[in-house]
Amino acid sequence: MNRNECSHGNTNNCQECSLVKMVAYLQTDDKIVWYSYFKEDKKYGRLEMISGQMGSRLQKKHGEAVKKIMFFDNKTAGKPMIGES
Ligand SMILES: [Zn+2]
Repeated sequence: MNRNECSHGNTNNCQECSLVKMVAYLQTDDKIVWYSYFKEDKKYGRLEMISGQMGSRLQKKHGEAVKKIMFFDNKTAGKPMIGES
């Protein structure tokens, strides 16, 4: 099976099939959870690259309001952390 294929009917990203899960907290303590886009999983391949794209998209959207960002390997059991900033 192609790792970018989703058997859950999702076309952009999926909480099970996306390669990277991002969890971010804003200064207000609001929590944001994103799953990487399939097209970026495919385009960048490396988890660090995918995470970097997600992080810069979040910064662009929320800027100074971002307090903490964490990235996880969504496809590995236990979802080990890839990095944080
Ligand atoms: Zn899926």
